[in-house]
Amino acid sequence: MNSFSKRMLVALAVPSLAMAQGAPKNVLGYKDFSQQAKWDAAFMSVPDAKLAGEHLKILTAEPHWASSPEDYKTALYVADKFKAAGLKTEIVPYKVWLNKPLKIEISAKDASGKTLMHGPNAEHVGPADGGDPFQDDKRILPAFNGSSGSGDVTAQVVYANHGTLQDFDELAKMGIDVKGKIVLVRYGANFRGVKVYIAQQRGALGVLIYSDPADDGYVRGDMYPKGAYRPATGVQRGSVQFLPIYPGDPTTPGVASTVDLPDSQRIMDPKKMNQPMIPANPLSYMDASPILEHMDGAVVPKGWQGGLPFTYHLGGGGAVTVHMNVQQDYKLRTIWDVIGTIDGDDPNAWVVAGNHRDAWVFGAVDPNSGTAAMLETVHGMGELLKQGWKPKRTIKFASWDAEEEGLMGSTEWVEQHAEELHHAVAYFNTDVAVSGPDFGAEAVPSLKQFLREVTEAVPSPKGGTVYDEWLRAQQADDRVGDQQLFAGVKRERATQEVRIGTLGSGSDYTPFIQHLGVPSTDIGSDGPYGVYHSAFDNYNWFIKNADPTFVYEQEMARVFGVEVLHMADAEVLPYDYAAYGKAVAGYVKAAEKDAAEEKLAVNFAALDAAAARFAAAGQATSKIVQGGTAPAGFDAAEREAETALLGPGLPRRTWYKHVIYAPGEYTGYAAVVIPGVNEGITADDAARTQGQVDELVTALNKSAAILEAAAK
Ligand SMILES: [Zn+2]
Repeated sequence: MNSFSKRMLVALAVPSLAMAQGAPKNVLGYKDFSQQAKWDAAFMSVPDAKLAGEHLKILTAEPHWASSPEDYKTALYVADKFKAAGLKTEIVPYKVWLNKPLKIEISAKDASGKTLMHGPNAEHVGPADGGDPFQDDKRILPAFNGSSGSGDVTAQVVYANHGTLQDFDELAKMGIDVKGKIVLVRYGANFRGVKVYIAQQRGALGVLIYSDPADDGYVRGDMYPKGAYRPATGVQRGSVQFLPIYPGDPTTPGVASTVDLPDSQRIMDPKKMNQPMIPANPLSYMDASPILEHMDGAVVPKGWQGGLPFTYHLGGGGAVTVHMNVQQDYKLRTIWDVIGTIDGDDPNAWVVAGNHRDAWVFGAVDPNSGTAAMLETVHGMGELLKQGWKPKRTIKFASWDAEEEGLMGSTEWVEQHAEELHHAVAYFNTDVAVSGPDFGAEAVPSLKQFLREVTEAVPSPKGGTVYDEWLRAQQADDRVGDQQLFAGVKRERATQEVRIGTLGSGSDYTPFIQHLGVPSTDIGSDGPYGVYHSAFDNYNWFIKNADPTFVYEQEMARVFGVEVLHMADAEVLPYDYAAYGKAVAGYVKAAEKDAAEEKLAVNFAALDAAAARFAAAGQATSKIVQGGTAPAGFDAAEREAETALLGPGLPRRTWYKHVIYAPGEYTGYAAVVIPGVNEGITADDAARTQGQVDELVTALNKSAAILEAAAK
């Protein structure tokens, strides 16, 4: 159906469910969509905005840091809802290496010994604009970084902007050595663990990471409680794990950290774990400001100035001395995943859908907006079960624990079930499901068309479908981009279909796609959100700023559910390898251009041929999927084609097996595509790049051969 007739239908429809009933058409993987359209409609009538709001209120009533008694209470709540819907439910414990702050003391003095700040100060907003009803809860832990080292250090302070590799290099070029110093960096631009990774490599004694008001504070809009942005005392907690090396429990890379796993089978030496030895701690801008304001040294380069009302300096002289005393209590602590299963006709083909449950504090947006939505998805599945529905494929819903510390609950479960997951047909993630009204998604290329079709089946609270609103927002963005002439950045335009992002890292899809090659998606609905990982990400903030009537919760419950339904019931697995082939060909072309610019002597001939072969094979199988009928064994082959894209692991970080997607070693959140090759080029290392090109050629040829055989 074209977009004109779709809009007509919307205009005529009574809100909500008419789309699903009126719109069946060509859906990838179905020859005849009519029965599925009925199940879709039956499902979509169930997820309830009010109930989602109730789940959210209950789940976020107390701080529920992973491994705490309050966290266990939320596991019981989720397990009860899974059981009530008829899912076979289990609570799965793991023992993982977690730090809890014993003592956090940070102070700064000027050259004369006068105290400039002594903190950190507690997160607090005054009674103006309504105050905050949650901030005084005694169970709120002092703001800290997961995976931080312990230490008592005193040193001069240096400002390193966002703490990217380029920032540290620029600092060195300006003659400033961070060795023996405490580095002050602002949030943004990369994953916080990467900031500490580089600072430690260069000999820093400690790292302070603060939230600049230019990033998510008053420069962006009104501060909470008046608006949605970060107040002066608001702190962004978060893990400084070396996520790009490996995620999950630090003591058990590649192995499940089950409760009975003895210490003798764990890495118990902190120096060998995926985390820093030096102390790191987050700060509010209220606490960082007196440090920054009094620093000496040169004025910062262009682009390093943040939003505070004075000129920033690089430091490194004697004007400000900082004292950090950070003591962490590390031990193996128990965490709890909740897994709920709906048996399908095929017990081996799993559709896994998950969201994490643990929060730094109350976690209204991150992550329990996702948990509330998922519980309403499960509610809908329960109603279908009562009506006699049985999916073709087996469905598993997962409520992960300790995601915030480094994707621990998901990684350990994935490592435990690696064998079975080789047949899992998809993993669907949602983390920050709702912080506002703007839908967005990331996916492997083979699932992008699938995801577009899912969002075409779900109504948007704004009218029309989720897909219509998503496309309209992207087109409006593009127009703004045209007017502002973004520094020569050319972008793919959303004129006909929505752009879907590339999976990087920072949430629970990472072990599925990047370690095991399970095709994955990640969805969320965004808006102005300045209280990330602070005590102010709570129910009060949520109902004032994100979704007062929970209609976006309902929307996300439906999108999440329709993803699961279509993947579980499709006649042919709805993978689009034609899109995959096109994407990979684009990545290869871009890498070749970069290598040429760097004048690296690398031979790309075999890679060109392999990419072309993979693209052609993808075209052939996509035609079969579009027809909605396929010979026996076709689905298994299509799934195997993704597993074939796993290699022996990336240099220096072999846990990451996927040859097309990984988080960047020096970005963390952002994906690096064909990572082995591109990181070889960035490192200016021709031999390493050639080796990685050869790995990629092997994987693409293997995957192409599987697709070619399937298309015969
Ligand atoms: Zn999260």
